Amino acid sequence: MARFLTDGRIDLKSMTLDELQAELVALGHPRFRAKQVYKWVWQRGVSDFMDMSNIAKDARTQLAEHFSIDFLAPAMRLDSEDGTTKYVWQVADGHHIESVLIPDPGIEGHSKPRMTLCMSSQVGCAMACSFCLTGDLGLTRNLRPAEIINQALQVQASLPEGQRITNLVFMGMGEPLHNLSNLLRALGVLLDEDGLNFSHRKVTVSTVGLVPQMLKLASVTPVNLAVSLNATTEETRAQVMPITRRYGLEDLMRGCREFPLPHAKRITFEYVMMRGFNDTWDDAARLVKLMSGVKSKVNLIPYNENPQREILRPSDEHVKAFQHFLVSRGVQCSVRRTRGIDVSAACGQLGKATQGLRIEEANIEGPTVSLDDAPA
Ligand code: SAH
Repeated sequence: MARFLTDGRIDLKSMTLDELQAELVALGHPRFRAKQVYKWVWQRGVSDFMDMSNIAKDARTQLAEHFSIDFLAPAMRLDSEDGTTKYVWQVADGHHIESVLIPDPGIEGHSKPRMTLCMSSQVGCAMACSFCLTGDLGLTRNLRPAEIINQALQVQASLPEGQRITNLVFMGMGEPLHNLSNLLRALGVLLDEDGLNFSHRKVTVSTVGLVPQMLKLASVTPVNLAVSLNATTEETRAQVMPITRRYGLEDLMRGCREFPLPHAKRITFEYVMMRGFNDTWDDAARLVKLMSGVKSKVNLIPYNENPQREILRPSDEHVKAFQHFLVSRGVQCSVRRTRGIDVSAACGQLGKATQGLRIEEANIEGPTVSLDDAPA
């Protein structure tokens, strides 16, 4: 059993319910204790064993000696003009990670309102996609299960009464499938009805295309899969996504065709559109071909320009025409609306803006779920 420690105690929030039960039974607790503790931690968000009022006092004291209940320290909160909020967190070893909350009012009679949380899975990222600013950071370390889940727990706790996160997407910093075992533990809690109780229909894991890990993920949980495709030939994809040299385009598409999709689900293919690089009509035609035989939908992401890259975003008209090309050939295709660009919360922008960020009084010890006093 993998164990994560905080100050010599076991990091309780990184444990699965089964592991917690085994540990507590070994300490002499009754079997039902694990679920009690788990619910206090995940459904009530408590930070102190002493608040677990249905557990005997001496048992609480013993638990507190044995386990820690960790939280992320809120470092900064940035509100975009478009309603998107970027949360910057400091993790215990001083690094920063980010989560982005994206409200969408929906369209009456067409789509429901949504509140999507974009979550990080690593500090930095090892995939080094040339167009992505997070890639410039390199990989510092994997996030622990607790650090992944706490993003959802703590953002939820910061919302006004009655507002709920409806969807989770692993499209923040890091490559989630490069941190697969911690991701799977986190997903266990996020999907558990005694945990955060999200439906697998509302959770999406996005990957550069780590083919064996994709299939492993599917064997454990039916969450949605998104694949960042971003190019239509082996050569062009390898130019911008080094992972292509490990898992070539053909291997990737074979993995997608073999992916055991649950009923009524499709794989989302993210396609970042970069002017003159992957937005020609030849690309569009190749994309249609690549999608044949895969239950898929394509999500076009017009490139978010930035001073660190010379890459240009195609015009809105061109993106629309590209979409039309695909749709008229039977490929489901949507265009991702750019959100949070003014606070560097848009796709591919995470991490860069907070490098060099200084937090005067980072509250690492004192667990808190309130973000109200974080500077805006
Ligand atoms: N590592 C995973 C999760 C990150 S998702 C993955 O790559 O799928 C982040 C998404 O943003 C990816 O689809 C990536 O291709 C896209 N992206 C990166 N930089 C971008 C930019 N500048 N503009 C638009 N999309 C970008």
